[in-house]
Amino acid sequence: MVVIEAEDLYKCYWVGEVAFPALNGVTLRIEAGQFAVLAGRSGSGKTTLLNLLGGLEVADRGTVRVKGAELGLRTKDQRSLFRLRHVGFVFQAYNLVRVLTARENVAFVCQLQGKNRRECLESADRWLERVGLGELGRRRPDQLSGGQQQRVAVARALASNPDIVLADEPTANLDSTTGRDLIALMKLLNEEYGTTFVIASHDPDVIEVARPLVRVEDGRVLGTQGKRPPVAVPCAARTLPITRRILHALAGLGDKPRNGN
Ligand code: ADP
Ligand code: MG
Repeated sequence: MVVIEAEDLYKCYWVGEVAFPALNGVTLRIEAGQFAVLAGRSGSGKTTLLNLLGGLEVADRGTVRVKGAELGLRTKDQRSLFRLRHVGFVFQAYNLVRVLTARENVAFVCQLQGKNRRECLESADRWLERVGLGELGRRRPDQLSGGQQQRVAVARALASNPDIVLADEPTANLDSTTGRDLIALMKLLNEEYGTTFVIASHDPDVIEVARPLVRVEDGRVLGTQGKRPPVAVPCAARTLPITRRILHALAGLGDKPRNGN
């Protein structure tokens, strides 16, 4: 069963009048239960793609469907609600709430889902046990090592019983042994619970266990584009004011200004 379907995604970031094309026509399908790794060098578009798949941002063009729901058609609030029910996140820098203990961090999403606090804390304790931190639930993040904090983050991501977990460079701040242990844990949870994982990473140890490995380069996914050339949108579209764009279109000049026009 296909759980994530991205079709011809384009995303451009604007800083003033300067355009940074981040995605240039990404098409991607992820099946339920896969342990997909988006691999590519820094700046290739991995984070942007994850943000679109999780509905944190919307594409300029193209569609994202998660479990059949088209995220681009939803409001920001509707997308937040969708994330709360269906998506777990793991970040490079752990992103735990400093003032909460490990078990409170894990219980947090469950409480946001409207469940009873005690029930959430009990479930959090079980998840911490599951990631090997049963004894450390009452510590705050600054009393835990990086590897332990990331295990808390993994427990938090799974405690809400999501369909998909999106992880952005989860091992990048960890030494190689700790990183390998973490990815082994994520793979184990993926197999045990059937949760779909999509992980952005250029860590060789993560790439090794990828299923499937998705290569990202210059805002495109290699091997899925067929022979179709990239379309020069949407970054090109804003470089001309609308009236000039219409004039150019009528004159058959396309998007590019020419000398003398
Ligand atoms: P990766 O995660 O693979 O390093 P990103 O998705 O972060 O790649 O970035 C893809 C491209 O988009 C890069 O060229 C980056 O500079 C650009 N980009 C990403 N976010 C922004 C932003 N907020 N403003 C401007 N450019 C951005
Ligand atoms: Mg990134």
